[in-house]
Amino acid sequence: MTAADLLPTIGLEVHMHLKTRTKLFCGCPVRYDARPNSCVCPVCLGMPGVLPVMNGRAVELAVRMALALGCAIPDLAKWDRKHYYYPDLPKNYQISEYDQPLGIGGFLDVETPRGAVRVGITRVHLEEDAGKLMHDERGGNFSVVDLNRTGTPLLEIVSEPDIHGAEDARAYAEALRQLAVYLGVGDCHLQLGQMRFEPNVSLRIGTGPDGKPRYTPISEIKNLNSFRSVERAVVFELARHRQEYVANPAEYTLENLGKETRGWRDDEGVSFLQRSKEEAHDYRYFPEPDLVPFVPDRAWVEAVRATVPELPQGRRRRFISEYGLPEYDAGVLTAERGVADFFEKVAGLVKDPKTASNWMMQDVMRVLNERKAGIADLGMTPEALAELVSLVKQGAINRNKGTEVFGKMLASGKPAGEIVRQDGLAQVADAGAVEAFVDQALAANARTVEDYKGGKKAALGRLMGEAMKASGGKANPQLVREILLRKLGG
Ligand SMILES: [Zn+2]
Repeated sequence: MTAADLLPTIGLEVHMHLKTRTKLFCGCPVRYDARPNSCVCPVCLGMPGVLPVMNGRAVELAVRMALALGCAIPDLAKWDRKHYYYPDLPKNYQISEYDQPLGIGGFLDVETPRGAVRVGITRVHLEEDAGKLMHDERGGNFSVVDLNRTGTPLLEIVSEPDIHGAEDARAYAEALRQLAVYLGVGDCHLQLGQMRFEPNVSLRIGTGPDGKPRYTPISEIKNLNSFRSVERAVVFELARHRQEYVANPAEYTLENLGKETRGWRDDEGVSFLQRSKEEAHDYRYFPEPDLVPFVPDRAWVEAVRATVPELPQGRRRRFISEYGLPEYDAGVLTAERGVADFFEKVAGLVKDPKTASNWMMQDVMRVLNERKAGIADLGMTPEALAELVSLVKQGAINRNKGTEVFGKMLASGKPAGEIVRQDGLAQVADAGAVEAFVDQALAANARTVEDYKGGKKAALGRLMGEAMKASGGKANPQLVREILLRKLGG
């Protein structure tokens, strides 16, 4: 066994906030912009004598996500108290699901540069989030707590250790986010802490005498809040495991090498030991006496399943096979559900998916990227874009003017046809008129004409540009090219 044989073995625990109006056990609003400790009540403050009331919407969203991940929904899931003491957890226990979660045994197919990788999903369960501690950084040596987040519905998704590299860990995390947003299960804004990651990292170091694979002790890296930090932390941790193992392999002969919890210092790019991992019995789990178990009606589960839309992966493949789009374009157009819906609407209206895709990729996505905005904020309906695309297809305006009209539509909100009329942008396709533009260009650029005739083929493009300019950009480009070639050839 050499260092090269060591196989990275990674599982990921992902926490995400569900998209509910209110918290998991009380009517307090879930807000991210509120004054600290303004969205709290006796229930989420853990006052004596209060009772939790389960948020049905949260359960539904959790089940929707579990179903989209291909999980089975057992006939019974129960709630448990997980005890620990921490200032951001006023009850001193968290209501979670311990041994009977609401979703088990699914998978997620993740696109990686090396092809699709299937990552098994061990379990999906629902729990409540804790509050936020903020430590005084001006040397005041005190901390303050904001309990607005306490009781926010939190979905935990635990993967199998099926991930074998840092890039794949990142790709998995990104795919999970895309899925949750697609499903409307969560907004997953990383900067708001709506999605957090805990990779479990180890290296497979061969096979034991019993024939079973052996691993370095798992390190669980807590509370990463960006895709980049997931990738960096896994890279760092794998290198650390490898180095320690190679330096002293004899130490790795024990049956149970244990587990440790590590933190991550993003600015330094290093992980550090926090504590050796608690065992489950440290939490003194017991069934939550104030909540009845979750016993889903099968018809209800099927009704939730019916709310699962076509998922990004499948939709991407369909865009390639049904519309003949290149793989890259299909990936861009299906990355967000709103964009995919918008595209399909336009494609259907103009009855030309390839042209619709061209407009989406070149014009719509460019504007969204420039504005860093979502499709909902484009300020244009698919119908309005379809009208513009049709005008270009029919030859009423040329493609470049189409992009100009697109910009004007966004600025004014006016329909394409009206802008074309008002601004006189209609395409000039009359052979006589176009010939006049070409003649003008040839007369004014005798040097370029000589270049072309001398064998510099690139000069044709410059002459094309001059003729188009002479027409105010409105000439039919194919016609310009034809006339130009005829005249130059003669
Ligand atoms: Zn509350």
